[in-house]
Amino acid sequence: MTQIGFLGLGRMGAPMAANLLKAGHRLLVHDVSADAVAALVAHGAEAAGSAAALGERCDIVFTSLPTPAIVREAVLGPEGVCARGYPQILCDLSTSGPQLAQELAAALAPHGVACFDAPVSGGIKGAVEATISIMVGGPAAEYEARLHPLLDLIGKPFFMGEAPGSGQTMKLVNNLLGAVAIGVTAEGMAFGIKQGLDPARMIEVLNQSTGINSATRDKWPRSVLPRTFDFGFAAALSLKDTRLLLDEAEAAGVPLPLGRIVEGYLEKTLQREGPAADFTAIAKVVEEAAGLDPDR
Ligand code: NAD
Repeated sequence: MTQIGFLGLGRMGAPMAANLLKAGHRLLVHDVSADAVAALVAHGAEAAGSAAALGERCDIVFTSLPTPAIVREAVLGPEGVCARGYPQILCDLSTSGPQLAQELAAALAPHGVACFDAPVSGGIKGAVEATISIMVGGPAAEYEARLHPLLDLIGKPFFMGEAPGSGQTMKLVNNLLGAVAIGVTAEGMAFGIKQGLDPARMIEVLNQSTGINSATRDKWPRSVLPRTFDFGFAAALSLKDTRLLLDEAEAAGVPLPLGRIVEGYLEKTLQREGPAADFTAIAKVVEEAAGLDPDR
């Protein structure tokens, strides 16, 4: 039986790993947080003890980690997945950008590792329910033979191309649209509230009108209208994604002025709310600029 490993058991990684377990796969897991490992061991996973042990013992290793720097270190570093031996397949489910995907493929292909970038979209709820979209770049033959059936267990995979980073590029495009949707929804809502409209009623109308988007449909009803700002995606990670996109777009000679505005909103959200802020707290920044009391 193919031995699967999972590194990074956070808000997204834990439910994705749990879905592989539910389908009957044996799973070796690791995370720097002992609590995160214990939660998966309670679901039937085995603790690997380290990233290096995971790489040594597994045929296929999945990663779901916060930033490109962390993924690089966790895979290629002296204590990383490839420190003691190479898996046959490495599949990075993190949003870590096309450049890192290219770097990992260049470093690992000579050692016979089939490298895939496979970032996901759909939030924690989608990860739990296995409805996330998964945007995949990597070698097509290995994908069809070995990876596709596993990704089907954790979401809906879309193969984007063999060039390393194809999945990451698609993900950055999606994140631009998602983040701009939050920014523009915050702006429209702040204006309406200032003019005396009821926020819940506005969202009801928008969701039946042409203004509907992922923020009016999910983020406002779940986290902004109830003022909980707990959608489950950190503003810091959203800022990381936006910067990855802006860097890539600049290198490609593609101006993205809407992306720059969202970058500014996210920076202000972190300044106002601290490093643990959820990205839905962008609404507070926009409300404050409009002269509303965001802590009402
Ligand atoms: P998270 O911070 O909840 O989880 C990251 C996990 O990685 C944590 O458990 C942390 O302890 C662990 N970790 C950090 N460094 C490590 C290391 N060196 N070795 C082992 N484990 C380590 O983050 P998340 O929200 O689950 O996001 C993970 C990835 O998925 C990110 O790239 C993010 O951009 C992306 N993503 C998140 C969402 C979302 O809604 N949360 C949606 C789509 C994509």
